[in-house]
Parts: sequence; structure tokens; C-alpha cells
Amino acid sequence: MKLRQNILVKNPVAVMTGRRGSLARAGQVDIRISDGLIHEMGSDLVAHPGERVIDASDCVVYPGWVNTHHHLVQNLLKAVPAGLNQGLEEWLASVPYPRLARFTPELVRIAARLGMAELLLSGVTTCADHHYLYHAGGSTESGDVLFDVAEEFGMRFVLCRGGALESAASHPGLSRTALKPESLDAMLGDVERLKARYHQSASDAMRRVVIAPTTPTFSLPPGLLGELAHAARSMDLRLHSHLSETQNYVRFCREKYNCLPVEFVAEHEWLGPDVWFAHMVHLQPSEIRLLAQTGTGVSHCPVSNSRLGSGVAPIPQMAAAGVPISLGVDGVASNESGSMTNEVNTAWLLHRATQGASATEAEDVIHWASAGGSQVLGLGAVGSLEVGQAADLVLYDINHPRFFGFHDVALAPVVAGEPIAVRYSIISGCVVVDRGVIPGLDLARLRSDARDGVQQLLIELDNAG
Ligand SMILES: [Zn+2]
Repeated sequence: MKLRQNILVKNPVAVMTGRRGSLARAGQVDIRISDGLIHEMGSDLVAHPGERVIDASDCVVYPGWVNTHHHLVQNLLKAVPAGLNQGLEEWLASVPYPRLARFTPELVRIAARLGMAELLLSGVTTCADHHYLYHAGGSTESGDVLFDVAEEFGMRFVLCRGGALESAASHPGLSRTALKPESLDAMLGDVERLKARYHQSASDAMRRVVIAPTTPTFSLPPGLLGELAHAARSMDLRLHSHLSETQNYVRFCREKYNCLPVEFVAEHEWLGPDVWFAHMVHLQPSEIRLLAQTGTGVSHCPVSNSRLGSGVAPIPQMAAAGVPISLGVDGVASNESGSMTNEVNTAWLLHRATQGASATEAEDVIHWASAGGSQVLGLGAVGSLEVGQAADLVLYDINHPRFFGFHDVALAPVVAGEPIAVRYSIISGCVVVDRGVIPGLDLARLRSDARDGVQQLLIELDNAG
């Protein structure tokens, strides 16, 4: 359990709020934090007795990043040689799926600790993890392990409870795993258990549960999609999944269901402001309109999409249409960096490369990665720096030659990207990165645990060359 402090952040070089337009910048204001909330923002605030004063005179202050799509277990599967030059389907079949049965709760814990450390040190304060390590007759303990690790690191955490159901077996990757899909009752039973134990409904929740089959097309029979949607709405839980990541995915949907993927999920009540999908790289204009009309969100994962050669999502068009946009790092087996700052930098650059220099503005990308993410997750009290909001904020260290020549150093984390150090990170008033380090984290142990974990996940495929 992290200790909540009353804090005064003094003399920042600049404060970005995560809001849009003229509200995107708050200037050089001090920020007072009490009871886990932003209590006051203004010039020359004077410290109250007992307040911890943090000198921000070498720092720019941002809202903590809200990462809306991750797979923490993949933190022990970075740069697996067999999958380095493969597209999504082949990569799934050679990297994550053949190893899923090997993930003991202890390996999940090691992977999650690695991932949480990397996320915190890249400015993330909220993480939604799409966790699909569930199978018939298997333990459901790994979901609890993730909440436990989130508690250890002080991360605001959303468990997107994934998995596959019943007769699903059409995905090429699934045939490579020894795991058999669960029943609907088993999945919903575990969701109810997780909800009772962890879920908080408030807009500043530290813990959330979401219903999230791995894909709506491959992971379950279509008839069960609607049942999951009904179950989620009756339990007041949100829905999440992958969608339209590759052209093959769209082709499969057209051939099997004679419609586009967004039309397919619409038929099964999987659109609305309580739903968000990762990727959506390949969309028709009619699908973008449908997403915008229903308030369905996207988790944009540009690095993973680039790494797997999936394509570039039409994010500027989606944003212009009014689709809620957020960013996710995706699993690090298809993105060797779990850094949100790297993701933000890539999002800023990539659409310019394909659509011209006016395609993205730095302030918009900051909004997508902070307040945009909290909108998609239904956590309206986080993601922006304003009085009354949860105190989730990050101080980036700009005292480095990389940043000395900047005219507008407020934008450094977005336009220069990594490396940039998080000097402090604060979540709900708790200091989770303190003077550049995660308090209490034994790095030597983390490193040796990771080495052991990688050894345990080697399979014959890796030795075949
Ligand atoms: Zn994913």
C-alpha cells in the first residue's frame, strides 16, 4: 500500500493539462495536491505545514499517461527471434500462443512486475491490461496476480478479462496451444468473482474489471457475443477487444459474415460509449461514422502496428469524425518498448509521414494519451490536470543536453520522445517514482527473475533456428 502525501509541486518549467485547444497549457503554475486530488493550481503557492515540496524547476509536468491496451504477460517475450520478421497471424502462432500454457502464476507476476516498472518509468499512471491467459479447467489466479502487482506499484489498473469461449478454434494461433477455450459460465463466473473482489465504479476508480474476449470474430461463436454484451451491461462493466488489426481480418469477416468488422460487432450490440477496440487499422468511412455515432472508442497502437506490418490506422480521420481516441502500447512481444512516451512520439510522427505535417498536433496527441484514454475507460476524474481531478501527474526531467536548445520545451516528451527521464510520478497523491526511481524496487532481483523467466519460456521452436 502506497502512502498518500500532501504535496506542493513548485516552479515547473511548463504544465501541459491533457485538455484541448487553449486549455492545453496551464503555464508555469504550482500545483497543490491533497487527499489524492489536485487542490489548487496557481502562481507562487506557499507550502502549508506538513506538505512535501517537490522542486520542479528542471521539469515539465504532464498528466500521467493512460495506456488503454497492453498484455503484461508478454514482458517475458520481447524480441523472440522466430517472430521478429513475421506478420500478425504467423507471429501469434510462433511467439505468444505456443508459450501460453507455460505461464505459471509466478511467471505472470515476474512479467507484470517488469511491465509495471517500464510503464511507470515512461510516465504511465493508468494501465488497462488485456489479459487472455484463461482456459478450460485452468487456474484463474493470474488475474488476481495482476491486481496484486498493480497494488505493489501503485498503478491505477483496469483488468480486461479476456479469453476464448467454447467452439472457437478458427484462429491459426490457437491450434498451436494446448489450451482449450472456457465455457461461457466459467468466464462469467470469474468475471463476477473479480468484480466483487476488485471493481470500483467511481470515475476515479483505482481498480476496474472489463469483459474482453480476445477477438469478437475468432475467440467465440457469434451467438455468445450478444450474451457477453448483455452480461456486461447488466453488471455495469465495459467491453473491450481487438478489431480490424490486419487486412486478413477484414477479409475473414467479409467472407464468413458478409459484412465489415464494425458492422459485425454492431449486429451483436458491441458498439457504444462503454466499448473500445484496439487497433482498428483497416476501416471504411462508413465504419468510422458508425463508431463516431455510437461513441465507440479506439486504442491506437502505432508501434505494434508498425512492427507487425499491419498498417497505419486512420486516426486523424477518426478524430475528425468524433471517435474517442486513446493510445496503447500493446503487448511488448510485438513492441519491444513498453514505453508510452515512445508510443506518443510515434503517434505524433507516423500520421505525418503518411498524411502530411498537419495530420497530428502535439497537443492533440497528448490529449489522446491522457484525457482521451480516461474517457475511453470511463475514468473521467483522471487524465487531465485541473482542480478537483485525481492527482495523477508526471514530472519529466529536462535537465539534459537533448533539451537545452528547445524554444518550446513543454512539448519535449512528445516531439523528442525517448530517452526522457521521469523524475517524479504521482498517482492519487502517492509518489510512485521518486527522484527517478521506483521506491523499494529491487532491480537486481527483477533482472535475475526476468532471466529465469525467459529461460522457462524457451521452446523447441527457438532452438530449431
Ligand atoms: Zn493486443
